[in-house]
Order: sequence, then C-alpha cells, then structure tokens
Amino acid sequence: MTYIITSLCLRDSGCVDVCPVECIVPGKPVEEWPWYYIDPDTCIDCGACIPECPFEAIFVEDEVPDAYEAKGGEQLSMPKGTAGFDEVYEGSNHHGEPVHLESVRTLEAGETIDLTQDIQPNYDYFQDGPGYSALD
Ligand code: SF4
Ligand code: SF4
Repeated sequence: MTYIITSLCLRDSGCVDVCPVECIVPGKPVEEWPWYYIDPDTCIDCGACIPECPFEAIFVEDEVPDAYEAKGGEQLSMPKGTAGFDEVYEGSNHHGEPVHLESVRTLEAGETIDLTQDIQPNYDYFQDGPGYSALD
C-alpha cells in the first residue's frame, strides 16, 4: 500500500517538506504531469503529508474515493488538452511561488467524481514517466 495524490492537487507543495523519506516530487513537465506524485516504492505510509494538503488531495491508496462528493469549488487539474478541462488556475504555493495550471475544471456542489482513476499516474510517473530518475 502507499499514499496517493489525486487530481485535486494544485501544486501547493506543502506535503513535500514534511515527508520523512522525500518521496513526493513535483510532476514535470507540468503540462503532462500536473500534480505532485508519491513514489510508491519509497513511501513508508506515515501519513504526515495528509494534513499538510490545503486541498485534501492525498489519500491512503485503498481509501481513494470512487464517488467523491464535491463540496463545490474544488478544482481538478489534468494534463493539457484533456476534454472538459478548459479553465486556468493561477495561484501560489506553500512557498509563495506562482502556480499556473492550464487544464482545470471546477466542481459543482454535489457533483460526484471517481478519483480512483488518479491512482495509476502515481505509479506511472515513477515507472515509465520522468519520475523514473526523479529521486536519484
Ligand atoms: S500539499 Fe496537496 S496540493 Fe500541495 S503538492 Fe501536496 S498534494 Fe498537491
Ligand atoms: S505517507 Fe509519509 S512517507 Fe508516504 S508520501 Fe506521505 S509523508 Fe511521505
């Protein structure tokens, strides 16, 4: 088991600083890998990252909701060009640095989303994607 970052991640970066094994990395390039990702082989399941996320984007893998009910106003971020994700997010991260995301969608209150589709990218980033060497 591991912990999983979902598409609710808006690259705040607060989780990175508290991870004792430094297994959370920012996805690069951001257009293709818009979230931060947790290396499943390194994560020790300590849970320290969860309370640090202002967007409540992190879950224990087997608790990632397949029917996440939106409070309203949450924003999901996807790779550039994803159909239906045509909003832009301009924010700043935990360190006050600007964050710019181009394929975002704002959830409506009561809308139900399957976040389990976000599990696999956390594996892919380190197995086949640029994260393969991100922890070297
Ligand atoms: S704290 Fe949350 S929003 Fe920020 S990088 Fe971590 S998972 Fe993403
Ligand atoms: S659960 Fe602990 S080890 Fe795993 S990513 Fe979060 S802070 Fe790091």
